[in-house]
Amino acid sequence: MKLIFIGAPGAGKGTHAAFVSSRLEIPAISTGALLREEIKNRTPLGIQIAGTMDEGKLVADEIVLNIIKMRIAMPDCRKGFILDGFPRTENQARELDKIVEIDHVVSIEVPDEIIEIRLEGRRVCKTCGAIYHIVDNPPKIQNVCDKCGSGLSIRHDDIPEVVKDRLKIYHHDTEPLKVYYASCGKLKEVEGAEDVRETERRVCRAIGIEL
Ligand code: AMP
Repeated sequence: MKLIFIGAPGAGKGTHAAFVSSRLEIPAISTGALLREEIKNRTPLGIQIAGTMDEGKLVADEIVLNIIKMRIAMPDCRKGFILDGFPRTENQARELDKIVEIDHVVSIEVPDEIIEIRLEGRRVCKTCGAIYHIVDNPPKIQNVCDKCGSGLSIRHDDIPEVVKDRLKIYHHDTEPLKVYYASCGKLKEVEGAEDVRETERRVCRAIGIEL
């Protein structure tokens, strides 16, 4: 199954993509995580995009398109994949349409006020990328990843001023994709403001997988 998860930053795309990924045994591909890896490894691309990402702005379409094309050509994507955070512009969506047929586009709907609270409490594992929330989904030991034991950190772009800009960009550039995908019958809107297990059930129902 080939899936796209869209939603505002902090809507839960990464969390639910990870869940569906393990259920369907297909990779969850986060363009944000792939780009952060470039920055961590100080590659020429990472150096080029670090400022843009810290400011919460979108990286140029051709850069993310190149990354995504290479990633979905890998053997582990043969059975399908979940794209988390891609496409984010209509141009990216049109380019993706030229190379692959997507089955469902899940849009996780969460009001901005809840997003702002969520991102303030979000913590991510520096090593394996697991996602936690200090109140809603805390690790067993404070600031330590349950999965790999590494330390947790706050993403540079999760600070409140940057979050406001990221939300503006989401509404302006990415939300119109819902109309784009609704017009071809692929859009599944899922209410994501409630508890994580309930949203998980709704996501599974929307794409027709049994729990
Ligand atoms: P995310 O982890 O999905 O919240 O993405 C973090 C940051 O990576 C975004 O704020 C952008 O700077 C960049 N990014 C991720 N995916 C894309 C994309 N599809 N197009 C442009 N920039 C992206």
